Amino acid sequence: MAAVDLDTLYAGIRAGQRASVSRAITLVESMRPDHRALARDLLARLAEDSSAGPAVRVGISGVPGVGKSTFIEALGTHLTAQGKRVGVLAVDPSSVRTGGSVLGDKTRMPQLSIDPNAFIRPSPSAGTLGGVAAATSQAMSVLEGAGYDVVLVETVGVGQSEITVAGMVDTFLFLTLARTGDQLQGIKKGILEIADVIAVNKADAEGAAEDRSAEARVAARELAGAMRMVRGHGEWAPPVVTCSGLTGVGVDDVWARIGAHRDHLGHDGLLAKRAQQQLDFTWTLVRDILNERLRRSEPVAAIRQQVADDVLSGRLSAPAAADAIIAAFDEG
Ligand code: GDP
Repeated sequence: MAAVDLDTLYAGIRAGQRASVSRAITLVESMRPDHRALARDLLARLAEDSSAGPAVRVGISGVPGVGKSTFIEALGTHLTAQGKRVGVLAVDPSSVRTGGSVLGDKTRMPQLSIDPNAFIRPSPSAGTLGGVAAATSQAMSVLEGAGYDVVLVETVGVGQSEITVAGMVDTFLFLTLARTGDQLQGIKKGILEIADVIAVNKADAEGAAEDRSAEARVAARELAGAMRMVRGHGEWAPPVVTCSGLTGVGVDDVWARIGAHRDHLGHDGLLAKRAQQQLDFTWTLVRDILNERLRRSEPVAAIRQQVADDVLSGRLSAPAAADAIIAAFDEG
């Protein structure tokens, strides 16, 4: 990355210039200490002037193949047709391990990727999930500063990533399928707890012998029943709807439900939610940093093998081993 002139970059973002937005996101993804300092300055300046207002931040999750990118293509083009500017970001935990990124790949959203009112960015590929999430969260602020109205954050429905994404958006949309064997078994209980809107996708007759809409409606009813058991009275009751990202049927309804969830939060509720997210995120980052220090600690590295041998041979209990490791860490 070439030398960064913060004033030029800031002005470019404010003017909504794609190249500046792109460079700023590269900056917030960077691990270099000088880039991090610049990124902090940039974000502070963007936060000072909140004239652009908060974007609608939506997390979208579901297993691979559920139709996330097809749905985002449909929803994104639906929104840009209304004159809205839409950013698409991705959090891909597998890219943390492999260094490659799958989600947010432009070729999976052919129309949206050439839409002048859309900005698509694949998952950052370096670092821990916490690091990727930090970069994504800052990228959302850059897009907001550039006047984007909606930010869609795509993540794959495995492990911790959806919890992480739910923790940085206003509304969390979970996509599922009717035909997952036992309707409810395919869905982890944790998802029901974090989802604000659920959509049974592929409710269409595309590429299938029979129309799947009826089946999708049955699944949606069952899921809605399950949701009522998970959520308490008086809380937001997450709606369960059907849609087809491929034909576009029901996509506007999903968007309307997202709007209803936002109305339910209200202005103050939204601010409070975002503030709490920042506090939770602070501690996620602290844990991340501590983990990294533990991994790099030389005194810990020096006793690592011995502790492993002792625990494996039964000479040392796990609690005693943990104490020894922490003692070594504190020493470093
Ligand atoms: P992702 O892995 O969740 O992003 O899923 P994709 O959007 O890549 O879709 C996976 C496959 O399902 C592709 O072959 C799509 O064409 C197909 N697909 C996606 N959405 C729909 C839909 O609404 N209806 C039908 N019938 N197929 C769909």
